[in-house]
Amino acid sequence: MGNIKDYKIATLGSHTALQILKGAKDEGFQTICICEKGRDRPYKSYGVADEIMYVDSFKDFFKIEEELIKKNAIVIPHGSFVAYIGADKVPTIKAMHYGAKGILEWESDRNKERQWLDHAKIKMPALLKSPEEIDRPVIIKFHGASGGKGYFLANSPAEFYERFKVYEGKADHNDYVIQEYIVGVPVYTHYFYSKFTGELEIMGFDKRYESNADSIGRIAAKDQVDADIRTTYTITGNVPLVIRESILPEIFEMGDRVIESSKKFTEGGLFGPFCLEGIIDPELNYYIFEISARIVAGTNPYVHGSPYTWLRYDEPMSTGRRLARDIKQAIEADQLAKVLG
Ligand code: AMP
Ligand code: AMP
Repeated sequence: MGNIKDYKIATLGSHTALQILKGAKDEGFQTICICEKGRDRPYKSYGVADEIMYVDSFKDFFKIEEELIKKNAIVIPHGSFVAYIGADKVPTIKAMHYGAKGILEWESDRNKERQWLDHAKIKMPALLKSPEEIDRPVIIKFHGASGGKGYFLANSPAEFYERFKVYEGKADHNDYVIQEYIVGVPVYTHYFYSKFTGELEIMGFDKRYESNADSIGRIAAKDQVDADIRTTYTITGNVPLVIRESILPEIFEMGDRVIESSKKFTEGGLFGPFCLEGIIDPELNYYIFEISARIVAGTNPYVHGSPYTWLRYDEPMSTGRRLARDIKQAIEADQLAKVLG
């Protein structure tokens, strides 16, 4: 039987690292935090890292990869991996990597993502092919925009061109999508699917706390107009949420379908933590505009478990801890390869 003492859990010091490392320690693993110089304070202060490895920039991950391999470290991907290392480079990671690498390519490419969700019969906001087609409120999203920064809304082709002016000619702003704007409340569902138990769990929900979208309602409409405020969606934090219980059956089924469909698109399919991100409208339609095929930061409020994990586990169970348990079960069953991608 494999022994978890022979392995270490490592991740980049940002996004969900506190939760991942704490969860790994709770399961009995030694932990490594890869930190950018000068940004190690939280990981020291909260005592979640047994060891800190320093890089000048997360982009230098590959410079320390050999060392991680020597330490028998299992790397846990999160939002900062894709943001700083790049979805294209993640598949080239040679160190042990938790989760299906191939699926990250599907979640980071909007067209592929749509194909996957379509196949899983997930409702999504309509996509408009060109600015000329704008006949309703739409949201314009730039590819790879970090955390919704720079998105804008428009109601007509004229408004689109007016607002697009500031982005004209900027190389990273040529690639965008025009999506129907859904009026409703944002709901992000955190799932976990284990190949060992063969079960899909709902770990919790959150809504994002976005600047300035979440502050605009604090001033009168007249002031919004006078101040010429444009809505932006820069992510600053996450707010915990429980949802109407009668919606749960549908949300479980959506998760099942996403797992099932993922098997068609990559070998082995999706497993571990993932998240469906969308808006619930007044008719209770849940429109999904994004899937994250890895741990999301919306799980951070639940370091000590969520109302949903308390129903299932008689101990604190964060998503970080849940994935460490998945790895532990794999090691102890001598089937580690099953959870590596
Ligand atoms: P960071 O390490 O904070 O720069 O985040 C890396 C990536 O994860 C960025 O693309 C962020 O937009 C995203 N991200 C960070 N924190 C959150 C959060 N609390 N909720 C959603 N996305 C986040
Ligand atoms: P994203 O980067 O796709 O996660 O979107 C960032 C934020 O923009 C979301 O958290 C929502 O607040 C908002 N948003 C994105 N797409 C839509 C949509 N189709 N309808 C309404 N709001 C949206």
